[in-house]
Amino acid sequence: MNSESKYFKLFAECKLVKGNKRSAIYDLPRNSYKLIPNGLYDILSTYKTNTIDDVKRDFEKTQHSIIDEYFKMLIENEFIFFCDEDELELFVDLEPAWDYPGQVSNAILELPMQNDTLTLSLLSLEKLGCRFIQFRAFNTLNLNYIEAILTFLNNKDFDYIEIISKWGNYDIDKLISILKNHQRLRLLYFYGAEKNKVLKDNKIERQKIVFSSEMKEKHSDFHVNNKYYFKVNITLFCESLFFNNYYNRKVCITKEGEIKNCLSLNKTFGYVKNLDSIDRIVQTNDFQLLWNINNDKIKICQDCEFRYMCVDNIPLKYENGEWIKTSPCFYNPYNPDDL
Ligand code: SF4
Repeated sequence: MNSESKYFKLFAECKLVKGNKRSAIYDLPRNSYKLIPNGLYDILSTYKTNTIDDVKRDFEKTQHSIIDEYFKMLIENEFIFFCDEDELELFVDLEPAWDYPGQVSNAILELPMQNDTLTLSLLSLEKLGCRFIQFRAFNTLNLNYIEAILTFLNNKDFDYIEIISKWGNYDIDKLISILKNHQRLRLLYFYGAEKNKVLKDNKIERQKIVFSSEMKEKHSDFHVNNKYYFKVNITLFCESLFFNNYYNRKVCITKEGEIKNCLSLNKTFGYVKNLDSIDRIVQTNDFQLLWNINNDKIKICQDCEFRYMCVDNIPLKYENGEWIKTSPCFYNPYNPDDL
C-alpha cells in the first residue's frame, strides 16, 4: 500500500490559521510557521479522515500535480503523518484552553517612581501572581537605584525582570556584575546608544544586554508592530484564541502611580495608594475589558493569518460597533505581498 492510499493526519500541535488571502501552519513545538495557500488550508480542514487518493478523487486531474506538491511539502516539514483507518481515532485533536494561576501575569512599571509607591506596587503584584516585570524609564537610571530595586526583589517571586532605560555611558563591567548578581534580571535594554549591538558574555549566558541606537521619548515609541515580535508557541497560541495576548493579565503603573492597561493609553483606573489598590482595580470589568478583545474581535486582525502569534499593541478603539486599531499595521492581510 503506498502512502497515497494511507490516511493522513495533521499533527495535533500543527495548527491551521486561515487568513484573507493565505493561511499559515503554526508548528507549535518547533516555534515556527509556514505560510500556505488557502487552497491547502481548505484541503486540510475538509479532509480530516481521508487518504490522498480521496482528495485527488474530488479534484480535476489537471490539479493533481499541485496536490502532490502540497503533500510533498507537508511531509518534508513533518506537518502530517500517515496511519491506517482503524488508527485514526487514536489521534485526537488538542482541546485548546488557557489559564494562569494568578490574577496578573505581567506588569510594566515606569521608573523612577516614589519608593513607597514602588514598594506597594511590587508587593501587590507579587501577591496577585505576577511573575514578569518590565521596568521602563525615559532617562538614564542610576546604577545604585537599579541595584536597590533588584536587591529588594531578591527574595520575591518574580521569575523574569527586564529593565529598559536610556543609555548613559555605564561601565560595562559593572552592568555584567549586576546581571551576575541578579540572575532573574534577564534583559538590560539601552536605547539612545551609539550603535545597535547585543552584548554576549560567558558570565551572563542566560542574560542579555541590548544596545539600540533608536531613541524613545514617549510610551507609544514602545509599540511592538513588526514581524520580529511574532512568536509561535503553544501558550501564546492558546491565550490568543481566547484573550488579547498583549493586555490580558497585564498591569501597567506610571511613575506617578497611575494604574493602567498600557502605559501609552490615556485611561487611568486609579492610583496605587495601598496594598489593595491594584487588586481592587484589576477585578473590575472595566479594567478587564481589553483582556477579552482578542484578534478575532478586531477589524482586519480577524482576517490575518498571524493573529495568534502577533503581540502587537497599537491602541484599540470601539467605533460603529467594532474594535479597530487606531493606527495602521505594518502588514495588510488583504494584500499580503508586502511581507
Ligand atoms: S493585521 Fe493585526 S494580527 Fe495581523 S500583523 Fe497586523 S496587528 Fe498583527
